[in-house]
Amino acid sequence: MKIISTASEMTNYSDAIKGEGGELGFIPTMGALHEGHLSLVAQAKRENTQVVVSIFVNPTQFNNSADLEKYPRTFEKDAEMLRLKNVDVMFYPSISEVYPNHNNLEYEMDGLDKNMEGPNRPGHFNGVVQVVTRLFDLVKPNHAYFGEKDFQQLAIIRHMSSKLKNGVKIIGCETIRSETGLALSSRNTLLTESGLQIASKIYSSLMFAQRQFANGGLASQVLVQTTAILNNIEGLELEYLEFVNPSSLQKYSDTESEIQACVAAHIEGVRLIDNMRVK
Ligand code: AMP
Repeated sequence: MKIISTASEMTNYSDAIKGEGGELGFIPTMGALHEGHLSLVAQAKRENTQVVVSIFVNPTQFNNSADLEKYPRTFEKDAEMLRLKNVDVMFYPSISEVYPNHNNLEYEMDGLDKNMEGPNRPGHFNGVVQVVTRLFDLVKPNHAYFGEKDFQQLAIIRHMSSKLKNGVKIIGCETIRSETGLALSSRNTLLTESGLQIASKIYSSLMFAQRQFANGGLASQVLVQTTAILNNIEGLELEYLEFVNPSSLQKYSDTESEIQACVAAHIEGVRLIDNMRVK
């Protein structure tokens, strides 16, 4: 596996692969890799001749400097995991390689950033779109892989990618969970055993909502019931639970045929998000 840390080397590499008729699959990550990331790698390996994984903790998508500082960084372990999966390139740029100029572009996301993570993490999605746009410019992938774990992020990247016409096909991949149902996340490594147990209750709450819908529950009632369950979990501080239309991300109506439940919660000072198609 090649480790590339400069923008110019990355672009030269990509141009050479494309010149030979190769197809490049790209997985942007912030490192502290786990099986969730590796499932994206596995899919990219099946669908491309070359796979590039970037590891870049993007400062512009953090609206809280303490959160940025404590974000786990495990370079050696990440490199070993990617090597074992026969990834072709680990792209590990510095902040100045990614952002040589101060560009403070404001992206218009056509309403997709107006609820859930948007208002709760001001500037977050602008930072996400900024870094993904820049990484796409450097890596020039044919396909880019993102997890449904970050449901709103995936919707925004799909929308912005087609709006900005960068020619990259965006592929969404299912959420990988632990045996307890907890969605795998780099942030889980910051939790104690007891924190992990509390965190797995997010999954059981979402499963509760899914069962209520299967039994004919009305969205407005299921939302109240599930919110109460989450609020009653000791050690968990609910930031939001929202029911939305999975395509428009607009707030649910009782007649909606499909509903995505999206949740953000704090456990032991760690912010976790999860989501599930509950209807
Ligand atoms: P991150 O390093 O957290 O920015 O994540 C990099 C990519 O991996 C994003 O597209 C995430 O949505 C995806 N991802 C993170 N956790 C999971 C998971 N448990 N299952 C599937 N994809 C995931």
